[in-house]
Amino acid sequence: MAKVIKLAQRTSSLSIPVTQPYLPSSDKYMHYVSKAFDNKWITNGGPLHKELTDRLKEYLGVKYLLLVNNGTAALQLAYHIKNLKNKTVATTPFTFPATLTAMAWANATVHLCDIRSDNWNLSANSVNESLKLEKIDAVVPVNIFGMSCELKEFDRIGKKYNIPIIYDSAQALLSKYEGKSIFEYGDIHCVSFHATKLFHTVEGGALIFKNKQDLERAERLINFGIQEQGEVHDPGINAKMSELHAAMGLCILDDLPMLIENRQASVEHYQKLLSDSVAFQTSHYDCDVPPMYMPVKFETEQQLLDAEQLLKINGYMARRYFYPDNHKFIDSKLVRRLTVNNSVTNKILCLPLMHNLTQNHIQRICKLVQKAL
Ligand SMILES: *Cc1c(COP(=O)(O)O)cnc(C)c1O
Repeated sequence: MAKVIKLAQRTSSLSIPVTQPYLPSSDKYMHYVSKAFDNKWITNGGPLHKELTDRLKEYLGVKYLLLVNNGTAALQLAYHIKNLKNKTVATTPFTFPATLTAMAWANATVHLCDIRSDNWNLSANSVNESLKLEKIDAVVPVNIFGMSCELKEFDRIGKKYNIPIIYDSAQALLSKYEGKSIFEYGDIHCVSFHATKLFHTVEGGALIFKNKQDLERAERLINFGIQEQGEVHDPGINAKMSELHAAMGLCILDDLPMLIENRQASVEHYQKLLSDSVAFQTSHYDCDVPPMYMPVKFETEQQLLDAEQLLKINGYMARRYFYPDNHKFIDSKLVRRLTVNNSVTNKILCLPLMHNLTQNHIQRICKLVQKAL
């Protein structure tokens, strides 16, 4: 008989992760899942998939939205649709690796530009400098930590050079720019519904398009490229979202206002307690940032390391997003000097943020951060 290996016991009595997926009540999940059972329809664009698509379109105020199986697949599809193969793409070094690994999979050349020191996003200035020096075929800005980047500037660049602007908006589902949805800008936005995101479907994501033709092509591509009569002229892949994943999304969408309110209160509490101790992400334009992460910037990397260590000893898992730097392992064409990136991103630490974090924990975390300074 096979031996059952015991799982390791948790050592620390208290361990607060940097984030934790939100789970709806299992009754509620079963309410939606039982519909899939009754319909005997569990994937390939069923009624729950349609309900989630319609509700998200209304909630976000967008016209052309396509659900997919994860945010990375959304990026791959966007890069494929905009023909980035063998093209040079300007993007940011300060992002989750998927932005760039999906680019490598699309056989595009990654051209890293510098970021801004205030919002830590791809700098439109830096991209403009690159455009003067060489041919750039597309720009992929990332709305990092939900803070919108210089959307207007990038739209201007797209028009002037006639190149696509594809956003990795994986962390920015509900972000606004000057009071408007970020989805009013650019050609394609890719969002992620991974379990750790504010809104999730366990695994999942979506593409939001400016053009109907792009949506229609993507609809075929996520289903192997099969067309109405069953023929394939444009080879696709399988990137469909199942009914069971859509069911989770419907549950979370119901609870989202509560989740946002709760996490927004935590963010404001952190900001109040830490305003004299660390720096926050800021912008020179008006933007709404959904409460998804709690990034803070220290004055020195040593302070960050001390704070991280002190928090860990006390059972709080802060995390360096995104460390190590992507450009250390992604094969990229480094033309511009990443002066700002190199001086800013090694000082950024994300503090714990999740729906059920108590005020007491936030107070303790802030005290520990201040003790490390
Ligand atoms: C989460 C995330 C992704 C990847 O999304 P998945 O759904 O996990 O594949 C890509 N880019 C950024 C910026 C992310 O935060």
